[in-house]
Amino acid sequence: MRVRFAPSPSGQLHVGNARTALFNWLLARGRGGTFILRIEDTDAERSTRDSEAAIVRDLRWLGLDWDEGPDAGGSHGPYRQSERLHLYESYAQELLNADAAYYCFCSTAQLEVERQEALAAGRPARYAGTCRRLSRDQAQARIAAGERPAVRFRVPENRDVVFTDAVRGEVRFHTDVIGDPVIVRADGHPAYNFAVVVDDALMEVTHVIRGEDHISNTPRQILLYEALGFSLPAFAHLALVMGPDHSPLSKRHGATSVAEFRSKGYLPEALVNYLALIGWSPRGSTHGRSAGDDAELVPIDEMAKRFALEDVGHSAGVFDEEKLAWVNRHYLKIADPIRLAELSVPYFNEAGIRMAPDARGLEFLASAMTMASASVDRLNQVPARLALVFDYDAAATLGDPHVRDEMQNDGARAVVRALAEELASAPRLDRDRFRAVANQLKTRTGQKGKALFHPIRLALTGRAEGPELDLALPAIDRGAELPADAGMPKILGNRERAAAFVAALDRVVD
Ligand code: GLU
Repeated sequence: MRVRFAPSPSGQLHVGNARTALFNWLLARGRGGTFILRIEDTDAERSTRDSEAAIVRDLRWLGLDWDEGPDAGGSHGPYRQSERLHLYESYAQELLNADAAYYCFCSTAQLEVERQEALAAGRPARYAGTCRRLSRDQAQARIAAGERPAVRFRVPENRDVVFTDAVRGEVRFHTDVIGDPVIVRADGHPAYNFAVVVDDALMEVTHVIRGEDHISNTPRQILLYEALGFSLPAFAHLALVMGPDHSPLSKRHGATSVAEFRSKGYLPEALVNYLALIGWSPRGSTHGRSAGDDAELVPIDEMAKRFALEDVGHSAGVFDEEKLAWVNRHYLKIADPIRLAELSVPYFNEAGIRMAPDARGLEFLASAMTMASASVDRLNQVPARLALVFDYDAAATLGDPHVRDEMQNDGARAVVRALAEELASAPRLDRDRFRAVANQLKTRTGQKGKALFHPIRLALTGRAEGPELDLALPAIDRGAELPADAGMPKILGNRERAAAFVAALDRVVD
């Protein structure tokens, strides 16, 4: 089995195309096949090397690797269409020699007039066949006179083209609705339908798996395979990924590219798992279930073992970011905390918490990560969740009228004063020491439950809510102990926080 992903490098990798790449990859990896990356860059105006590099980076980020491709090499290269022009030229010549193709001198303006006329008359807007009847001599004479023709494929008349699509079943087109397609443009560049056939055939692709938007190209391609004497691959056309309004997912629905989802803080394993679930149910689980079933959480290697084209639904799948977030939460919970710490660094910097942690800094962040990873949807929410470790401003906290109100209470004031006293002489807090301090405060002040813990929370985190105190306070003190050169911002410890809070309290409450 040989499959390929053939992106046009004219922008970012769309999640729908990433899903096409993924399905090809899953099939190759599950069946011991070969996965090829081919860059379809014959549209010189729209293709860029930057886009190619971005697509390659995004595929790698998703964990998809290829056996043959522009960087990987392989025995069927080159793998960029722009480096294969000589091949298209020679096959076009072969078709011209066999009269299966002909030169077309129609100008763009003329073709447009004909197209408008056809539309106005309610006829299909296909090529009228003007140059079909030119003799070879007539064509040669015009070329000799300096005209630059395109090459068109002569579509056989009055035939059905039938193929069995691995996803959609039998698909049938009549050649009457297919106008003769341009296979080589006047500028010498091959058209998509021609280059793709030459490449898939020469690269010995056995299964062409691509988006449904290409289904109407397939009969043209099949006719070209026949004319060139190539044997046909199997075809599978995947339903497009839709937005919530059931139109193809596009910018107006929000994020569409793999790069955008990465920068929002989704993990690659989550995006890959979720993309596979659009239109595919792992075998052994039931179709049509709703979000939130663990049977759908399948790591990529496991998916490869279970993936089969027959299980891919032929109706469009809606991209549901809520469900993606659910999948992401799962992978955040099981991910290595050091990795999450590393991945979170850019988000901290973006949020204004500047850091360039070394190994000690990362280890600290990783230890604090448990407070965040179980309660966020995405990595870009981590800094807000952990901000209590980094920002502390007693005066600003007491600037909040609700906090001041709460501190009017004698019991609350007693708790924070006793807290400052206890911490002044206590070692840095870990979970057990914090529990011991809380018990001391309970005995000394007679406060318990919320009346005990809420003032502690306000005084030490500067916030009315947040993660469990027995996670947050030890994290704060571990941060306070970090060496100055660990690449982390200065973190104020609990002892210093309690003292600052009492001092600020003395200024606002008498
Ligand atoms: N370059 C085409 C695209 O990006 C590839 C289509 C195909 O796989 O044949 O849509």
